[in-house]
Amino acid sequence: MAVLEGLEPRSVFHWFEELCRIPHGSGNTRAISDYLAAFGRRRGLAVRQDALGNVILTKPGTPGYENAPAVMLQGHMDMVCVKEPDCPKDMAREGLDLAAEGDTVYARGTTLGADDGIAVAMALALLDSRDIPHPPLEVVLTVDEEIGMLGASGIDLTGLESRLLINLDSEVEGVFTAGCAGGARAEISVPVKREDFLGETIKISVSGLVGGHSGIEIDRGRANAVVLLGRVLYAALQEGGGRIVAVSGGGMDNAIPASAEAAVAVTDAEKALAVCREMERIFRREYAVGDGNVTVAAGPCQADALPLDADSSRRVLALLQCAPNGVQEMSREVEGLVQTSLNLGILTTDSDSVRACFCVRSNVNSQKDMLLQRLELLSGLLGGELSISGSYPAWEYRADSPLRALMTEVFTEQYGHAPTVEVIHAGVECGLLADKLPGLDGVSIGPELTQIHTPRERMHIASVRRTWRLVTETLRRLR
Ligand SMILES: [Zn+2]
Repeated sequence: MAVLEGLEPRSVFHWFEELCRIPHGSGNTRAISDYLAAFGRRRGLAVRQDALGNVILTKPGTPGYENAPAVMLQGHMDMVCVKEPDCPKDMAREGLDLAAEGDTVYARGTTLGADDGIAVAMALALLDSRDIPHPPLEVVLTVDEEIGMLGASGIDLTGLESRLLINLDSEVEGVFTAGCAGGARAEISVPVKREDFLGETIKISVSGLVGGHSGIEIDRGRANAVVLLGRVLYAALQEGGGRIVAVSGGGMDNAIPASAEAAVAVTDAEKALAVCREMERIFRREYAVGDGNVTVAAGPCQADALPLDADSSRRVLALLQCAPNGVQEMSREVEGLVQTSLNLGILTTDSDSVRACFCVRSNVNSQKDMLLQRLELLSGLLGGELSISGSYPAWEYRADSPLRALMTEVFTEQYGHAPTVEVIHAGVECGLLADKLPGLDGVSIGPELTQIHTPRERMHIASVRRTWRLVTETLRRLR
């Protein structure tokens, strides 16, 4: 017995429920991918399924729309699998236990995966329909978005005709996303030499910071513990005379570090400790608004490695003090949007190197390149090397977007007010798709989903109805 039967739009909820019977966590998408390919074949659609599991289903335009420009509908088939601690479900093997309550749908004890199952359900409902007028459709369903956009990254879009994209992976109704940042992970590795140094070893730590997401929270005035540590070390070694032994901090390149620490060998420990107390006072004043609880602590500790030599110590200080970090440029086109930023997220030391790993982002591809060049030049000056990985392109904002104009018109008629247009300083799949289909005009929308990626995830039924109405009316007008 279908739990969602009777909910409108019926076809969308029907396909959503079908999808929820098949386990489809990220990295476990073979079954759902095969299901989608079989769905297409049974209906005589053109089906492309690649080795990763991405599926592209193509359906001709309905009568009168045969020659209309093709539209890509897009979402990801994988979901984040999280459950309540006491939930016995094996999400790798069992389907979800759906339930409807009031205006919402949820899954008992687990994530619902409406992010992004609702996109797949809407696409299937359109592919299966006979009575909804639409232009030729190219439905692109990707795998493993949630673990690094792997599907969108590897998908081959050659031969696709669409230059209009409706992405269905947003979760705030009424918001049109019209651009996103590109990014990369960049690691500077500075080689170091060690030697004996007569002094007392002390440990210095910077902690108590708020931290946060290096994309969407980079402009909230929060301090970076690694950067503050660099300032403390510079001042302490200047005053107390000494050398760095080891530095470390943070844990993920895309999170603002909330703590960092160092071991240093100093000739005058008293002076160094006084400097630490003074720096705490300075930081609390500088960051009174965004990060007022920063703590700088220092005390004696055991030396478990030889200190760096004078030149190495100096180069590590230069790395920490001179590397760019935080917001680099705001957009002039979209008010309030951080256009270019980077975050020194991970600092580590081993016997012969100190490594700093950055998450670089920009909504303009050429500025991402600029930042990577700056990091490369800096690492060169420090005698080190830069390695870049996980690079993905920005989805650049188009001031002139015919699709957004049409969707805004339809939305305004249906809702009685205009949508909010947003550009975000984080990555979404549209960037990868736009990079592969130059000139792609896209908008990302979706129904209201709350608490995604948690077992409390809810999908709002009326919002699905309104979003479906927006999508189908937009398609009807794309003649
Ligand atoms: Zn998603």
